[in-house]
Amino acid sequence: MPPLKQYLLTPGPTPVPERIALAMAQPIPHHRHAAFEAVFEEVRHGLGWVFQTKQDVLTYACSGTGTLESAMVNVLKRDDEIVYVNGGKFGERWGKIAEAYGIHAHEIKVPWGKAVEPVQIEEALKEHPKTAAVYVQASESSTGVAHPVKEIAAITRGRDTLCVVDAVSALGAMPLPMDEWGIDVLLAGSQKALMLPPGLAWVAASEKAWKKSEGANLPRFYFDWKQERDSQRKNQTAWTPAISIILGLAEVLRWLKAETLPKIYARHERLARASRAAMKALSLELFADRPVVSITTVKSPAGVDSEKLVKLLIEKYGVTLVGGQDSVKGKIFRIAHLGYFDDFDIVVAVAAIERGLADLGYKAKPFGTGVGAAMTTMAEFDATT
Ligand SMILES: *Cc1c(COP(=O)(O)O)cnc(C)c1O
Repeated sequence: MPPLKQYLLTPGPTPVPERIALAMAQPIPHHRHAAFEAVFEEVRHGLGWVFQTKQDVLTYACSGTGTLESAMVNVLKRDDEIVYVNGGKFGERWGKIAEAYGIHAHEIKVPWGKAVEPVQIEEALKEHPKTAAVYVQASESSTGVAHPVKEIAAITRGRDTLCVVDAVSALGAMPLPMDEWGIDVLLAGSQKALMLPPGLAWVAASEKAWKKSEGANLPRFYFDWKQERDSQRKNQTAWTPAISIILGLAEVLRWLKAETLPKIYARHERLARASRAAMKALSLELFADRPVVSITTVKSPAGVDSEKLVKLLIEKYGVTLVGGQDSVKGKIFRIAHLGYFDDFDIVVAVAAIERGLADLGYKAKPFGTGVGAAMTTMAEFDATT
């Protein structure tokens, strides 16, 4: 018998609130009619608010990787050089996309679990002064690390180099004020902090990036930003949009606006602190040296294969967490807290981890130790804010 109840507690896809699911269950309006245009106009303004930019935020029907690719083909020329930070699975992807297009890509390799140092960016740009753009993750979801995006944008700001930030698992969880920080290209996806199913991705570009895109000459069609911007300024998309998810997005944005950005960020910070405290209370070590607010990455205790833990939690308890990939497969597991997560999702995740580890022979502390630390941390947070 499978477990009675399933808990999706992963960093993407994330749970979708019932209210949003219902908004997406509406009859589908035609995307060339006024009723849809009104929704799309509302969504365009709402996205500008989340991205904290005056620029257009383009909505695509694709997974996040589509906009990563778009952030290369729309700003680069055939012989351009780029610098990219590879500190995990998503950082590595920049290199793969660059390779597909024959772009000269200089990799800054960062050990998994570590954040890039701003000085490494400075050094790379000194060595490769013609670099057209620097590519980095705000949140490297495979390791739970937050790279220092603000500092990196400050470095590229005064140069003819763009700062491209993949914020797929960061936007809507932590402050990333695009215009204020001077981020040139900011990317996000629907299935993370914005509480939607997979299927939408967004990209916003600064004036500097739009200027660079005038000289871009890599092949592109579906992901041609200019074509999308021309359409979207008329509250249309160039091609058929993911209409239902856009209806959900409109509802998400209304909800988040009412909550306000500072409270959204505090909500994530609170659950991050609770998760970290829970793991420490269980004598477990965190994996990330600069942990992001959306994901807590934990080293599996000696002798416990985290793949086995993840499998056991799904099969026996119906709790879906994620483990590690590649070099950290079997060595780490990740607690998600982005989007539609609250106190009791963290309690479920931590309780499941305590139980699962005990099933696998690791029981350092009495049951409830991690859960207690999480609840205490959340209560303390509430008392001081
Ligand atoms: C989820 C994610 C993506 C996008 O992945 P898709 O599977 O293409 O949606 C990109 N970057 C980061 C950091 C992510 O977490």
